[in-house]
Amino acid sequence: MTQQLGTAERPLRVAIVGSGPAGFYVAEHLLKKSDLRVEVDMFDRLPTPFGLVRFGVAPDHQKIKSVTRVFDRIAQNDCFRFYGNVDIGADLTIDELKQRYHQVCFATGAQTDRRMSIPGEDLRRSHAATEFVAWFNGHPDYRDREFDLSAERVAVVGVGNVAVDVARILCRTPEELARTDIADHALEALSRSKVREVYMLGRRGPAQAAFTNPEVRELGELEGADIHVPPEEAELDPLSAKEVEGSDDDSLRKKVEIIRDFAQRQHTGKPRLLTLRFLVSPTELVAGDDGGVRRMRLVKNALLDEDGRLGCRATDRTEELPVDLVFRSVGYRGVPLEGLPFHERWGLIPNDLGRVTDPVSSRPIPGMYVSGWIKRGPSGVIGTNKKDGAETATAMIEDVAAGRVLEPTDPDRATLDALVHERQPSLVTYQDWMRLDEIECSRGEECGRPRVKLTSRDDVRSALARS
Ligand code: NAP
Repeated sequence: MTQQLGTAERPLRVAIVGSGPAGFYVAEHLLKKSDLRVEVDMFDRLPTPFGLVRFGVAPDHQKIKSVTRVFDRIAQNDCFRFYGNVDIGADLTIDELKQRYHQVCFATGAQTDRRMSIPGEDLRRSHAATEFVAWFNGHPDYRDREFDLSAERVAVVGVGNVAVDVARILCRTPEELARTDIADHALEALSRSKVREVYMLGRRGPAQAAFTNPEVRELGELEGADIHVPPEEAELDPLSAKEVEGSDDDSLRKKVEIIRDFAQRQHTGKPRLLTLRFLVSPTELVAGDDGGVRRMRLVKNALLDEDGRLGCRATDRTEELPVDLVFRSVGYRGVPLEGLPFHERWGLIPNDLGRVTDPVSSRPIPGMYVSGWIKRGPSGVIGTNKKDGAETATAMIEDVAAGRVLEPTDPDRATLDALVHERQPSLVTYQDWMRLDEIECSRGEECGRPRVKLTSRDDVRSALARS
């Protein structure tokens, strides 16, 4: 008789693709089930773990990164293995995973950005904020990008927390940046930055801004930049005023107060000026003689009630903003994975509580799961993934109980290990990562920084070979 699945004799074999918070929280939930023997193998195409915690969280927000201690603890479990530098789709196919695991969970995040869809968007000196963030955080695929920081005036389109991160990093002094784990190439480039004015552009009003209060408040506390909001744009229009009055959300009222306070501030003569604008949308980026961005055309917006949600419409009032560098920060977007359904409009994998669903029948596709941004879209903070991961893991456990799992022909742990080593001899294990972590932290210690990141695959390889 076949042993029951999830026992020592016949462990539940799970592959998690992606090693950011969304992946780790699924692993944590599965591994803490004392009545189920689960073996988790986590894959990442990058040599280092932690996804957006390493490559998305801003370098001057070290505290947020301490969540990696939780991930370290999860990784110490004997039933957990990490395979870094292994690209699912290239080194191993999804079909090969299906032959070796009972369940596969994709926690691949949202790897690209949304566009503004306006003329001039692809001019030189117009970039996705996501690329700038990946560059200053030392993502191996973005370390060679160039951003023209000889520009004096920069526009950041969008008023979410990513836009806040970008604006803040552009405004930080070299001394402030030098205390962080920002990538060395970015520290060097930003230390020579000529940026003097940064504009953040919100298409709706202060009450609809997507940033959170601690993040926006920090913009008023920068050593090297004054904050400014045009007073007329800090005032609420009647629709927003009604929304704020009727809301039981104190943080919304607080957000409006913070912005009003910014509007009353006087310039103190700091070297940079950060201006928050509201109710404006870019309509075109205009090139200068050198073919790169020189100006941005803007239209003033008015709010309108769209079935209970305040949207915006363009008015006939326009203006031009002289800017030489533009970052669009209008949201991340998931990318399709071969062999899995994809919801084009939402930019995610269709699912029901984490079970990947067939877009035609809406039925779950056996053995396939999602967690994090590829499941729910690019929203929420790192902690949001704990609940989200638990929801997916719960669905996975329920499916084991109901016998709705894949039937792998070769679920053996050792065979898989041999196969991955054969396909990717430069794979990085968690033990390797612990060595890399130590190397980065001790390089940091020498110069009073939390760590100095290794930013290329070659650097990682040679550091491991030497240690
Ligand atoms: P987000 O919070 O969704 O903000 C996107 C912003 O882009 C919004 O202001 C949105 O305005 C605007 N936008 C969208 N399309 C636009 C267009 N065509 N023209 C002009 N503006 C447009 O996304 P995000 O900033 O990328 O952040 C992603 C998630 O990561 C969020 O949940 C965020 O809180 C989180 N995050 C957290 C931290 C932190 O905790 N410190 C740091 C970074 C990111 P509308 O509201 O009008 O659509």
